[in-house]
Amino acid sequence: MHNLVVITDFDGTLMEQDVGDVLMEQLGVLEQPESLKASAGYKNKEFGSMVWAQTNYAFLKHKKTEVDEILQHIQPRRGAQAFIQFCREHNIGVTVLSDGMEYYIQQLLMMHAMEVDAVIANPIRYLDNGSYQLHFQNSNSACRWCGCCKADVVRAKKRAGLQVIYIGDGTSDFYGSSFADWVFARGALAKHLDQAKSPYYPFETFQQVLEIMHKDWPQFLEGTATRKMKNANTFCKFPD
Ligand SMILES: [Mg+2]
Repeated sequence: MHNLVVITDFDGTLMEQDVGDVLMEQLGVLEQPESLKASAGYKNKEFGSMVWAQTNYAFLKHKKTEVDEILQHIQPRRGAQAFIQFCREHNIGVTVLSDGMEYYIQQLLMMHAMEVDAVIANPIRYLDNGSYQLHFQNSNSACRWCGCCKADVVRAKKRAGLQVIYIGDGTSDFYGSSFADWVFARGALAKHLDQAKSPYYPFETFQQVLEIMHKDWPQFLEGTATRKMKNANTFCKFPD
Protein backbone atom coordinates (compact mmCIF):
# COMPACT_ATOMS: atom_id res chain seq x y z
CA MET A 1 0.00 0.00 0.00
CA HIS A 2 1.42 3.38 -0.96
CA ASN A 3 1.12 6.65 0.99
CA LEU A 4 0.72 9.03 -1.94
CA VAL A 5 -2.04 11.64 -2.10
CA VAL A 6 -2.92 14.44 -4.50
CA ILE A 7 -4.03 17.91 -3.45
CA THR A 8 -5.26 20.06 -6.29
CA ASP A 9 -6.36 23.66 -6.45
CA PHE A 10 -9.63 24.28 -8.32
CA ASP A 11 -9.74 27.71 -10.01
CA GLY A 12 -7.35 27.94 -12.94
CA THR A 13 -6.05 24.48 -12.10
CA LEU A 14 -8.69 21.74 -12.24
CA MET A 15 -10.90 24.21 -14.14
CA GLU A 16 -9.67 26.12 -17.16
CA GLN A 17 -10.95 29.41 -15.75
CA ASP A 18 -10.73 31.06 -12.35
CA VAL A 19 -14.43 30.68 -11.55
CA GLY A 20 -14.40 33.21 -8.70
CA ASP A 21 -12.84 35.84 -10.96
CA VAL A 22 -15.31 35.08 -13.79
CA LEU A 23 -18.28 35.46 -11.41
CA MET A 24 -16.98 38.72 -9.92
CA GLU A 25 -16.28 40.17 -13.36
CA GLN A 26 -19.48 39.09 -15.08
CA LEU A 27 -21.72 40.11 -12.18
CA GLY A 28 -20.16 43.56 -11.95
CA VAL A 29 -18.86 43.05 -8.41
CA LEU A 30 -15.37 44.38 -9.12
CA GLU A 31 -16.77 47.81 -10.04
CA GLN A 32 -18.35 48.33 -6.61
CA PRO A 33 -16.51 50.90 -4.44
CA GLU A 34 -16.11 48.39 -1.55
CA SER A 35 -14.67 45.86 -3.95
CA LEU A 36 -12.22 48.34 -5.48
CA LYS A 37 -10.99 49.15 -1.97
CA ALA A 38 -10.68 45.46 -1.08
CA SER A 39 -8.79 44.66 -4.30
CA ALA A 40 -6.34 47.53 -3.71
CA GLY A 41 -5.72 46.43 -0.09
CA TYR A 42 -5.20 42.82 -1.17
CA LYS A 43 -2.81 43.84 -3.93
CA ASN A 44 -0.81 46.02 -1.51
CA LYS A 45 -0.70 43.11 0.98
CA GLU A 46 -2.51 45.12 3.67
CA PHE A 47 -4.61 42.01 4.22
CA GLY A 48 -5.03 38.56 2.74
CA SER A 49 -7.69 36.74 0.78
CA MET A 50 -10.13 36.45 3.69
CA VAL A 51 -10.94 40.17 3.76
CA TRP A 52 -11.07 40.28 -0.04
CA ALA A 53 -13.49 37.33 -0.15
CA GLN A 54 -15.65 38.62 2.71
CA THR A 55 -16.18 41.83 0.76
CA ASN A 56 -16.71 40.39 -2.70
CA TYR A 57 -18.67 37.20 -1.99
CA ALA A 58 -21.20 39.25 0.00
CA PHE A 59 -22.35 40.63 -3.39
CA LEU A 60 -23.36 37.15 -4.62
CA LYS A 61 -26.00 36.76 -1.91
CA HIS A 62 -29.05 37.11 -4.17
CA LYS A 63 -27.38 35.96 -7.38
CA LYS A 64 -27.90 32.18 -7.39
CA THR A 65 -29.72 32.15 -10.74
CA GLU A 66 -27.03 34.30 -12.38
CA VAL A 67 -24.23 32.22 -10.81
CA ASP A 68 -25.84 28.97 -12.04
CA GLU A 69 -26.07 30.40 -15.58
CA ILE A 70 -22.39 31.41 -15.62
CA LEU A 71 -21.32 27.96 -14.36
CA GLN A 72 -22.75 26.44 -17.57
CA HIS A 73 -19.86 28.06 -19.46
CA ILE A 74 -16.98 26.85 -17.25
CA GLN A 75 -14.86 23.97 -18.54
CA PRO A 76 -12.43 21.58 -16.82
CA ARG A 77 -8.76 21.92 -17.84
CA ARG A 78 -7.82 19.52 -20.63
CA GLY A 79 -7.19 16.02 -19.26
CA ALA A 80 -8.65 16.78 -15.81
CA GLN A 81 -11.26 14.00 -15.94
CA ALA A 82 -8.68 11.45 -17.17
CA PHE A 83 -6.38 12.52 -14.34
CA ILE A 84 -9.09 11.99 -11.70
CA GLN A 85 -9.79 8.59 -13.27
CA PHE A 86 -6.07 7.68 -13.15
CA CYS A 87 -6.00 8.55 -9.44
CA ARG A 88 -9.07 6.40 -8.76
CA GLU A 89 -7.56 3.43 -10.62
CA HIS A 90 -4.30 3.77 -8.66
CA ASN A 91 -5.94 4.32 -5.28
CA ILE A 92 -4.62 7.84 -4.84
CA GLY A 93 -6.84 10.04 -2.73
CA VAL A 94 -7.64 13.37 -4.39
CA THR A 95 -8.48 16.44 -2.32
CA VAL A 96 -9.70 19.60 -4.01
CA LEU A 97 -8.30 22.43 -1.89
CA SER A 98 -9.59 25.88 -2.73
CA ASP A 99 -9.77 29.40 -1.38
CA GLY A 100 -12.92 29.81 -3.51
CA MET A 101 -16.61 29.19 -2.89
CA GLU A 102 -17.69 25.65 -2.03
CA TYR A 103 -21.02 26.01 -3.84
CA TYR A 104 -19.61 26.41 -7.34
CA ILE A 105 -16.93 23.75 -6.76
CA GLN A 106 -19.50 21.11 -5.82
CA GLN A 107 -21.78 22.14 -8.71
CA LEU A 108 -19.01 21.97 -11.31
CA LEU A 109 -17.58 18.66 -10.06
CA MET A 110 -21.08 17.20 -10.32
CA MET A 111 -21.77 18.73 -13.75
CA HIS A 112 -18.55 17.24 -15.15
CA ALA A 113 -18.79 13.88 -13.34
CA MET A 114 -15.54 14.41 -11.46
CA GLU A 115 -15.58 12.32 -8.29
CA VAL A 116 -12.95 13.31 -5.72
CA ASP A 117 -12.35 12.13 -2.16
CA ALA A 118 -12.70 15.49 -0.44
CA VAL A 119 -13.43 19.13 -1.13
CA ILE A 120 -11.91 21.62 1.31
CA ALA A 121 -12.98 25.18 0.47
CA ASN A 122 -14.71 28.17 2.00
CA PRO A 123 -18.24 27.11 3.06
CA ILE A 124 -19.95 29.83 1.04
CA ARG A 125 -23.22 28.31 -0.14
CA TYR A 126 -26.81 28.90 -1.21
CA LEU A 127 -28.80 26.91 1.33
CA ASP A 128 -32.00 24.99 0.63
CA ASN A 129 -33.99 27.39 2.85
CA GLY A 130 -33.10 30.23 0.49
CA SER A 131 -30.49 31.85 2.72
CA TYR A 132 -26.84 32.49 1.91
CA GLN A 133 -23.95 31.25 4.03
CA LEU A 134 -20.73 33.30 3.96
CA HIS A 135 -18.25 31.38 6.09
CA PHE A 136 -14.53 30.66 5.82
CA GLN A 137 -12.59 27.43 6.11
CA ASN A 138 -9.61 28.86 8.02
CA SER A 139 -9.40 27.40 11.54
CA ASN A 140 -5.75 28.34 12.09
CA SER A 141 -5.85 30.31 15.35
CA ALA A 142 -2.41 31.82 14.67
CA CYS A 143 -3.19 33.34 11.25
CA ARG A 144 -6.34 34.67 9.57
CA TRP A 145 -4.67 35.89 6.36
CA CYS A 146 -6.30 33.45 3.92
CA GLY A 147 -9.96 32.47 3.76
CA CYS A 148 -8.88 28.84 3.38
CA CYS A 149 -5.62 27.95 5.15
CA LYS A 150 -4.11 25.64 2.54
CA ALA A 151 -0.86 25.37 4.49
CA ASP A 152 -2.65 23.92 7.51
CA VAL A 153 -4.32 21.26 5.33
CA VAL A 154 -1.06 20.17 3.65
CA ARG A 155 0.77 20.09 7.00
CA ALA A 156 -1.94 17.81 8.43
CA LYS A 157 -1.41 15.36 5.53
CA LYS A 158 2.34 15.39 6.17
CA ARG A 159 1.81 14.81 9.90
CA ALA A 160 -0.28 11.76 8.93
CA GLY A 161 2.79 10.36 7.15
CA LEU A 162 1.57 10.95 3.59
CA GLN A 163 3.55 11.97 0.50
CA VAL A 164 1.81 14.96 -1.09
CA ILE A 165 1.68 15.86 -4.78
CA TYR A 166 0.35 19.44 -4.96
CA ILE A 167 -1.10 20.94 -8.16
CA GLY A 168 -1.83 24.65 -8.39
CA ASP A 169 -1.59 27.92 -10.25
CA GLY A 170 -2.14 30.98 -8.10
CA THR A 171 -1.20 33.13 -5.14
CA SER A 172 -3.45 31.06 -2.85
CA ASP A 173 -1.11 28.11 -3.55
CA PHE A 174 2.14 29.84 -2.50
CA TYR A 175 1.81 28.80 1.14
CA GLY A 176 0.22 25.35 0.94
CA SER A 177 2.50 24.08 -1.80
CA SER A 178 5.61 24.87 0.26
CA PHE A 179 4.76 21.99 2.62
CA ALA A 180 4.18 19.43 -0.17
CA ASP A 181 6.70 16.89 -1.48
CA TRP A 182 6.24 17.65 -5.20
CA VAL A 183 4.51 20.50 -6.95
CA PHE A 184 2.99 20.76 -10.42
CA ALA A 185 2.67 24.47 -11.14
CA ARG A 186 1.48 26.90 -13.79
CA GLY A 187 0.74 30.64 -13.80
CA ALA A 188 1.65 32.78 -10.78
CA LEU A 189 2.67 29.74 -8.71
CA ALA A 190 5.22 28.70 -11.36
CA LYS A 191 6.67 32.24 -11.41
CA HIS A 192 6.84 32.27 -7.62
CA LEU A 193 8.72 28.94 -7.57
CA ASP A 194 11.08 30.15 -10.30
CA GLN A 195 11.93 33.18 -8.15
CA ALA A 196 12.39 30.97 -5.09
CA LYS A 197 14.62 28.66 -7.19
CA SER A 198 12.53 25.71 -6.08
CA PRO A 199 12.16 22.66 -8.32
CA TYR A 200 8.68 21.88 -9.65
CA TYR A 201 6.95 20.26 -12.63
CA PRO A 202 5.52 22.87 -15.03
CA PHE A 203 2.19 22.00 -16.66
CA GLU A 204 -0.57 23.53 -18.74
CA THR A 205 -2.83 20.50 -19.15
CA PHE A 206 -3.52 17.45 -17.03
CA GLN A 207 -2.39 15.34 -19.96
CA GLN A 208 1.10 16.68 -19.22
CA VAL A 209 0.69 15.89 -15.52
CA LEU A 210 -0.36 12.35 -16.45
CA GLU A 211 2.60 11.87 -18.80
CA ILE A 212 5.03 12.67 -15.99
CA MET A 213 3.18 10.53 -13.48
CA HIS A 214 3.06 7.59 -15.90
CA LYS A 215 6.75 7.92 -16.65
CA ASP A 216 7.97 8.31 -13.04
CA TRP A 217 5.25 6.31 -11.33
CA PRO A 218 7.56 3.87 -9.45
CA GLN A 219 9.66 6.82 -8.22
CA PHE A 220 6.60 8.68 -6.95
CA LEU A 221 5.47 5.54 -5.13
CA GLU A 222 8.91 5.07 -3.55
CA GLY A 223 9.16 8.79 -2.70
CA THR A 224 12.29 9.15 -4.83
CA ALA A 225 10.89 11.17 -7.76
CA THR A 226 13.11 14.15 -8.49
CA ARG A 227 12.19 17.85 -8.20
CA LYS A 228 11.43 17.64 -4.49
CA MET A 229 10.01 20.87 -3.12
CA LYS A 230 12.61 23.26 -1.68
CA ASN A 231 10.68 26.46 -1.11
CA ALA A 232 11.17 27.65 2.49
CA ASN A 233 8.00 29.16 3.95
CA THR A 234 8.74 32.15 6.15
CA PHE A 235 5.26 33.68 6.01
CA CYS A 236 2.79 31.27 7.62
CA LYS A 237 2.20 31.09 11.36
CA PHE A 238 0.72 28.19 13.26
CA PRO A 239 -0.31 27.73 16.89
CA ASP A 240 2.18 24.84 17.40
MG1 LIG B 1 -6.11 28.76 -8.62
